[in-house]
Amino acid sequence: MSKQWLSVNRRELLSGAVAVGLSAPLLAYSVPQKRQKAQVVVVGGGYGGVTTAKYLKRENPNLDVVLIEERPFFMSCPMSNHFLAGLMELSSLCFSYNVLEVKHGVRVINDKVLGVELDKRVVRTSSGYIAYDYLVLSPGIDYDIEDKPFYRDSLIYNPPAFKPGSEHIYLRRLIEDFEGGDIVISVPTPPFRCPPAPYERAALIASMIKRNKLKAHMYFIDANERPIINSEGFLSAYYDLYRDVATYITSAQVRDIDVHKKVVRTSHGEFKYDIANIIPPMRASKLLDEAGLLKRGQKWVEVNPLTFETSVKNVFVIGDASQSYLPKSGYAAHSEGKLIAKIINARIRGKEVKEEYLQMICYAMVSDKEAIMTETAFRYDAVSKRFIPTYREDNQRKESTAKRYDEWARGLWRDLFG
Ligand SMILES: Cc1cc2nc3c(=O)[nH]c(=O)nc-3n(C[C@H](O)[C@H](O)[C@H](O)COP(=O)(O)OP(=O)(O)OC[C@H]3O[C@@H](n4cnc5c(N)ncnc54)[C@H](O)[C@@H]3O)c2cc1C
Repeated sequence: MSKQWLSVNRRELLSGAVAVGLSAPLLAYSVPQKRQKAQVVVVGGGYGGVTTAKYLKRENPNLDVVLIEERPFFMSCPMSNHFLAGLMELSSLCFSYNVLEVKHGVRVINDKVLGVELDKRVVRTSSGYIAYDYLVLSPGIDYDIEDKPFYRDSLIYNPPAFKPGSEHIYLRRLIEDFEGGDIVISVPTPPFRCPPAPYERAALIASMIKRNKLKAHMYFIDANERPIINSEGFLSAYYDLYRDVATYITSAQVRDIDVHKKVVRTSHGEFKYDIANIIPPMRASKLLDEAGLLKRGQKWVEVNPLTFETSVKNVFVIGDASQSYLPKSGYAAHSEGKLIAKIINARIRGKEVKEEYLQMICYAMVSDKEAIMTETAFRYDAVSKRFIPTYREDNQRKESTAKRYDEWARGLWRDLFG
């Protein structure tokens, strides 16, 4: 992750700056415009970005691949509900980007991307500019709270833990210190990242209340009529296992949050809390506004559904930030990353990739030991020009499904960082 890799000499630095037409401040990073090889810049070292960078190099070791990520290490959101409920250590979810550099030759820059200048084909970071031939953006989500200012303070005091990192650590600390009282969890309407995640979290927190024999009650406030995925499996778990420690309130909209009085006001009444996990509505990362890839009022970036290319040639948006037929999940971002690596490598060779339809699999814990799951296959209907999903839900909670869930996550992490 060293910056040393990109330290350039004065002549290169100036040629880079001049070539991209920047009357630049002092540049810490710069890549000369006249390159021998194509350069791919990947923004965001989460599920989509890491997969793209690794697979680009795996298929074509000669390619220059730069991954820019603002966090010092990778933290997985999949399995993070296990961590919140005290079933897994944080360290199991964290991985070093060094592996990508040392083993796979990806150049990793630990920096924040501030903007993308599509006309000049450069990415602006807090330390300078980086030019690209192909750009893959996988910056994930932001919370969509602009017209709901009451969420602002709540983000500080009631961490949503839907972005990897400090939010999870803080929420885990609140849960660890909790000795009894009322817990509130709230879920917005979709689309949000990982449809089963809030429902899984509610089940695991309820399970923790029972496991630790706490004098506590959880109010699970859902803006939706029922769980938006695996409805039957979640409802039967809530009813069979947690009726005594949790109340599930449906179709309830959060209207206000008083973080000082610790009250959530909803369309279905007020709920006092000792700790709260308020999950706000979501949208694509604001970086994509800056880049001009989101039109006014749009929340997710429109892409070609088969190639994830935006309206700008050779600029791709993958993962949760894109408006695609796939649900917003790590599994989808990983599959998209592999596909994009193929597409870019093929284009560099002057070829095109055959159409590929991706599949989905989603697991969710409903107790400390049991899980449920959904598999989704997609078919493209040329007449309606839409992807038609076929779902296969297994709503029977089973230890064997939980085991497959664990194996799935560990397999994915091996694939990303092995
Ligand atoms: C609690 C929870 C449980 C989940 N469980 C599952 C599961 O079981 N299965 C599953 O498939 N999915 C699951 N998900 C969903 C999964 O985490 C996301 O769908 C996935 O991470 C999306 O990948 P991404 O690449 O789009 O975004 P991310 O993985 O969030 O990566 C985005 C990266 O971009 C970086 N970034 C953003 N802006 C900038 C910038 N300006 N400069 C530099 N870097 C930047 C961020 O730091 C981040 O590392 C879960 C999510 C949550 C919250």
